[in-house]
Amino acid sequence: MTHMQQGTNLPKVGSYNQAVVLEAIQASDGISRVQIAAVSGLTAQTVSVIVRRLLEEGLVVEDGSAPSSGGKPRTILRVDAGAGYAVGVHFDPQELSCVLADLAGRPVARLHLPVRPGARPDAVVRQMARAARRILREAGVPDGKVLGVGLACPGPLDGEGVMVSPPRLPGWDQVPIKGLLREYTGFPVTVDNDATAAAIGERWAGIARATPSFAYLYLGTGIGGGLILDNQVYRGRSLNAAEFGHITVEPDGPECYCGNRGCVEAVCCPNAIEAAMGADHASVCAAAAAGEPEALRVIERVAGRLADAAVSVVNMLDIDLLVLGGPALREVGEIYREVITRAVSERALTRRLHAVRVETSPIAADAAAIGAASLVFHATYAPRLGTLLSG
Ligand SMILES: [Zn+2]
Repeated sequence: MTHMQQGTNLPKVGSYNQAVVLEAIQASDGISRVQIAAVSGLTAQTVSVIVRRLLEEGLVVEDGSAPSSGGKPRTILRVDAGAGYAVGVHFDPQELSCVLADLAGRPVARLHLPVRPGARPDAVVRQMARAARRILREAGVPDGKVLGVGLACPGPLDGEGVMVSPPRLPGWDQVPIKGLLREYTGFPVTVDNDATAAAIGERWAGIARATPSFAYLYLGTGIGGGLILDNQVYRGRSLNAAEFGHITVEPDGPECYCGNRGCVEAVCCPNAIEAAMGADHASVCAAAAAGEPEALRVIERVAGRLADAAVSVVNMLDIDLLVLGGPALREVGEIYREVITRAVSERALTRRLHAVRVETSPIAADAAAIGAASLVFHATYAPRLGTLLSG
């Protein structure tokens, strides 16, 4: 567990250290005060003070004890899953997905609603707010236990949560989606692009719980990505980092709307697969999964192009995990995983130093919605330099 962020024993950084301790507890399956001190670098006394506060606030509970090597048994601490909730909303141009997540990051309720084609932004945001209210009502969670609403939506977004010319959503330029959703729900709203949200969800509740640095490749209508580096979300200068979909993999390939040629997205997105096969994406994937040779050949070729980009990502970032997720992986995730695993194990520069795992997200279908809920927890509790600087 040497991957945890180190705390600091300096004065005036209580909230940062509290977040470090809470994250250590959240990331474990039960942990003692002594273990928290070991992974965080905080003194036993500091840990003890913070844990007492977390117990008083009801965020953490004592849950039995574990034998220790000599001395008295150690009390095990866990996050109290029912202490707080967040609603996660994933806005995909075709569908609204809504989840209610508890403080442990577990989805306790789900709701999927179609988006009416051509619906105006204001009507869609009102639909999101109604979905959030409905999921809370049906689960019987009172407003006082709601930490906020997280929204995952297609980028690009500016720092105020305004959508800026999203390429696949004409009519949504300059929509202040964060402000509107806050107004219509009455809750604080945290917003991020869908791929970053999915990466945070994976860090919080999915396959990357114990991984300090990983890349998330998101395959939806478009292809995006998210980055967690040294336990921090990496968003870039304008919140739009990790656009893996626009790495050129076919120099003479089709033009992409971004201005490049032969981008991963132009070659690998569901539309490109549909154009290659003359059939809809879902049926091509189903045929490939059933072993139909022509469909399998197309999916493997597309996976190979994505693998080319994945090798570059691994070489650039020296990470130890790549997570594949998003709705376009339905039925074909395992094919992508095998092709990319092979490419990375044969062609990444660091292959003789350490293995790079490639995993499909266990929460893929709802990854962005769960991630959106995690955004709220992450914004509230995750240790970040910003928290440290602001005291
Ligand atoms: Zn492009």
